[in-house]
Amino acid sequence: MFRKLENECKISFDLVAQGSVCIRSGESFELNPGEPDIAVLKSMWNGKMQPVIPGSSIKGVIRSRAEKYLEGSCTVFDKSCMEKSKDLKSGLERYKAVCPACKLFGCMSLKSRAEFKDAFPVEGTVFLGSRNQVAIDRLTGSARGGALFEPEVVEAGTFRTEIILRNFEPWQLKVILLVLDDINNGYVRIGSSASRGFGRMTAENIHIVYKNYKNPGESIGEFFTKEYSLEECLEKLKNASINSAKEVKFDGIPD
Ligand SMILES: [Zn+2]
Repeated sequence: MFRKLENECKISFDLVAQGSVCIRSGESFELNPGEPDIAVLKSMWNGKMQPVIPGSSIKGVIRSRAEKYLEGSCTVFDKSCMEKSKDLKSGLERYKAVCPACKLFGCMSLKSRAEFKDAFPVEGTVFLGSRNQVAIDRLTGSARGGALFEPEVVEAGTFRTEIILRNFEPWQLKVILLVLDDINNGYVRIGSSASRGFGRMTAENIHIVYKNYKNPGESIGEFFTKEYSLEECLEKLKNASINSAKEVKFDGIPD
């Protein structure tokens, strides 16, 4: 948690499937022949089990794309940020020590500035189907004796979700919005089997509510509370340099 809340931003949007999307549950249904071989992840929502895109999956997709914008970012396999920051006492020192991606998305030694909610279906929009696929032999990379498996997929659906930023710098909001724009333009896919053409989604009905508690009347807008569309917000942030991630001007006090 942060000692003091300086600003907050809620980005709400719909993820709309533009083709098949495969969000796997990881559960095996070998003992239940009535279930598909690989099922779509489901969770309780509005009183029934429904497909869900976990916030952690959305965060993973957005972080890996954001790393391309944020020069000098570590990757999930790189422990250098944790090494650099684990012995530092104050949150501000740790924040200054880590790479731009870890400043925004957090790491073992630092809390994330962005919270990603699970994405749940808009009532009546989701249709599930299954696809016959040829099983691939992991060793040879060729089709394994004509073996078929039938993953369950989302054929159509609209999933509503939110990202909440707290005590953030303008470049952090800008990076997330640029990635949402990349999702819309097809550069980023969601879920598994992206290399087989699954996971094309668009981010629609993007609605941004920005609140500044520290300097009402300053920062990214001239407003204490202001609502934006994606285009309006990117216009407001046009002078927020993504490279400013390197020189920390953050004056909030992370815990
Ligand atoms: Zn890092």
